Amino acid sequence: MKISMISEHASPLAAIGGVDAGGQNVHVAELAKALAVRGHDVTVYTRKDNRALPARVTLSEGYEVVNVAAGPPEPVPKDELLPFMPALAEGIAADWRGGAPEVAHSHFWMSGVACIEATQQLGSDTEESPHMAQTFHALGSVKRRHQGPQDTSPKEREWMEPWVGQSVDRVVATCTDEVFELKRLGVDRTRISIVPCGVDTAMFTPHGPAEPRPEGYRILTVGRLVPRKGVDTVIQSLSGLALRGIRNAELWVVGGGAGADALDEDPEVRRLRNLASDVGVSTQVKFTGQVPRERMPAVLRSADVVVCAPWYEPFGIVPLEAMGCGIPVIATAVGGLSDTVTHGVTGLQIPPKDPDALAEALAELLSQPDMARSMGRAGVTRVRDRYTWSRVAADTERVYESMLGGASRRRVVRLDGSGFGRSGA
Ligand code: UDP
Repeated sequence: MKISMISEHASPLAAIGGVDAGGQNVHVAELAKALAVRGHDVTVYTRKDNRALPARVTLSEGYEVVNVAAGPPEPVPKDELLPFMPALAEGIAADWRGGAPEVAHSHFWMSGVACIEATQQLGSDTEESPHMAQTFHALGSVKRRHQGPQDTSPKEREWMEPWVGQSVDRVVATCTDEVFELKRLGVDRTRISIVPCGVDTAMFTPHGPAEPRPEGYRILTVGRLVPRKGVDTVIQSLSGLALRGIRNAELWVVGGGAGADALDEDPEVRRLRNLASDVGVSTQVKFTGQVPRERMPAVLRSADVVVCAPWYEPFGIVPLEAMGCGIPVIATAVGGLSDTVTHGVTGLQIPPKDPDALAEALAELLSQPDMARSMGRAGVTRVRDRYTWSRVAADTERVYESMLGGASRRRVVRLDGSGFGRSGA
């Protein structure tokens, strides 16, 4: 099958851990690779965000990345990329004229906008144009609910995102919770499939090198340093943990900019450092900055527990990586984490924004090493059974096949005055 993936801000070539580079980059890279292993011809289209990038890169992983000139060839925050989507669409459509794919799978709502526009540019015969699949990764409706005025998404997202969901042939949700949200956005349930994200189970294994262990406990939290990841809750929980008699725990906050200067300049790091100082736990908290992907398994293996405490989480790859390494996970019971972490089996679930509940769960887990070890083992089994990229790719392939196999095509809904989606049903 000839497959195009569109990932406007999240290139598989990017360094992971910065503000806009996280799970989506990993997802697109791993899915592209696993689909290529299954014999598909995969091309990933992304925005050229660095002058030095060549127009096309063929990766040893078996797929190609096309860096489309769309906007300045430098990093631009993802929430400012919408004006460049027509140029991205034009670049994609130009490439497709040399041979259109059967399936175009977009990641994030703005890629969906570019994809719809590119298919429209190819011609109005929808039977000839690629079948469109869409993975949102995050939904604006959820973001708005949690972040309110702090949400920096362009205002167009409010109506363009549902429009994308209603216009594509299939929406691939990554967790059960997302299906309810999508239905609320007017996406027809019969056009939604659930395929989770995966984890590289050859890389994230329980055995292998580990970073040196501390004398006491090590708690790890990993991810982009944005408020919704709930790192503040983890920091606050350390004082509750001390009240429960555990004072010898250090917290590694992994992620953010690379290097000490980048961390010092990050307002979110300053906020978290001030918080640690206010609650009297500064000496226990270490900001490691961005950890390169290849070092991540060794970092995870050095932990007693990995905490994922977001307010909301479209999927969350970190718990799978921790489980792959045999580390128990304490996660807030939100979004994809409700599906991946089994309470009492592979870790513990807690409510979001609740430092006391987290302290209680940490104390329960750290004070019972046998239970923690058995949860770690259960995590390894769970990810190997359910979350390998080869299984995710096989499930994704089934979704593509069902789109190609005759289900009625979706026709793009006309948008008045948007400049996108020129032809209507
Ligand atoms: N990550 C990394 N280095 C860092 C911080 C994070 O390689 O310093 C990786 C992490 O291992 C995971 C991804 O970034 O693969 C984060 O994915 P997740 O789905 O948990 O969160 P998202 O960034 O999508 O919100």
